[in-house]
Amino acid sequence: MTSIGIIGTGISGLTLALTLQQHGIECVMYADRTSGEIRDGRLPNTVVRYGGTIPRERALGVNHWDGTDLVIERAYISALGTPISFYGPMPNGGSAVDFRVFLPRLLEDFENRGGSVVHGRTTPELARQLVERHDLVVVASGRDTAESLFPRDPARSTHSTPQRMLCAGFWHGIDELEPRGITFALAPGAGEIFQVPALARDGQVSGLLFEAVPGGPLAPIAEASYDADPGAFEALALRLVHDYAPRISERISEADFHLTGPLDVLQGSITPTVRQAWRELAPGRFAIALGDAWIVNDPITGQGANLGSACAAELAALIVEHHNYDEMFCRKAERRLWALAEPVCQFTNAFMEPPPPHVQGVLAAATEDQGVADAFVTNFGDAGAMCEALATEEGAAAFLQRARDARVARV
Ligand SMILES: Cc1cc2nc3c(=O)[nH]c(=O)nc-3n(C[C@H](O)[C@H](O)[C@H](O)COP(=O)(O)OP(=O)(O)OC[C@H]3O[C@@H](n4cnc5c(N)ncnc54)[C@H](O)[C@@H]3O)c2cc1C
Repeated sequence: MTSIGIIGTGISGLTLALTLQQHGIECVMYADRTSGEIRDGRLPNTVVRYGGTIPRERALGVNHWDGTDLVIERAYISALGTPISFYGPMPNGGSAVDFRVFLPRLLEDFENRGGSVVHGRTTPELARQLVERHDLVVVASGRDTAESLFPRDPARSTHSTPQRMLCAGFWHGIDELEPRGITFALAPGAGEIFQVPALARDGQVSGLLFEAVPGGPLAPIAEASYDADPGAFEALALRLVHDYAPRISERISEADFHLTGPLDVLQGSITPTVRQAWRELAPGRFAIALGDAWIVNDPITGQGANLGSACAAELAALIVEHHNYDEMFCRKAERRLWALAEPVCQFTNAFMEPPPPHVQGVLAAATEDQGVADAFVTNFGDAGAMCEALATEEGAAAFLQRARDARVARV
């Protein structure tokens, strides 16, 4: 009987495990943290799940937050100092559930359905032993842990330094828009501030993500210490939102604007990296990298978890289709998964650069024409279409034409 070992219980590993489980394929998950440790830990991200992720979760029967009033219906986009301001429908409705709630719940589903979880940190040496125990090992252990097994792929890695400094947190004191939405406030030259209605352990909160251009005016929030001086940290955040994201600031009630707790903030930076996709860890025995263990993108376009989920589903389909998980299998898997991931990397890396004139033209057209705005926001769920629309002048012109034609056809 086929047996798959999965290292890491993030969204990538869990989506893979739950999908294989649905197909009756035995898999064992290796977890360095218990559900309780995840629940009690630091905020790991401010993920919005949307696009294909939502129907995948329904198909897996892990859509525990469907039917609540948590659906994120729109994305509101504006750029400071420009007339750009528009909104469009989030692809498939989005959801931002604290991953400290989301992941333990999915892990519980996996275990309740008979899945086994082995606790303890998997070292590279142990991974080499696991490939002998399983037909295939999938390493889905996140961005910080895979380096020794899967070296950086310089041909596919566009950057070698972080392009943004990050500060993500959960906050009280921000009123939500109706219909509920994620707000992308672009501050050209300084960075971006994103705000999203989220469900945390104790109820509804606002996720705020500062994406600061290094050395720019937003950067101090990525380094300020909340623990050293909570009041000063909150005052700095308030001032930056006021100065750089007026669309968010106008919904803040100053007296109530507080971080929801000392562990509800995450600071740092990410070097966008693509690693080697697979390795032969013992003769004829292979490991494949999945999710952030393979590719880590800056969260600026909110794609990493959604890509991890999409790649997990694709890899599960391939595992179900095949019986030998040899080098040919690994090469095929890499081709199929890179087809999903490449446009995400391109689109995300491009988003961190100042927009060329044809992209500014698309944003301006979206401000004037709801059909274009709808098509632009919908494309967040389809990185290939987004790349096509933004990569070249011709692509942008064709995208605008299609969006306008579609609006005319609807009228
Ligand atoms: C601030 C921020 C905002 C973001 N916003 C979005 C967004 O809006 N939308 C989006 O799609 N993505 C977003 N992302 C990206 C997203 O969080 C990641 O891409 C995604 O969570 C990666 O999932 P993963 O399962 O691949 O890895 P991880 O979530 O890192 O999971 C890896 C798991 O493996 C475990 N582990 C690690 N080492 C070992 C080991 N040696 N042995 C056993 N287990 C191990 C870890 O404890 C962890 O549980 C954001 C990221 C950040 C930082």
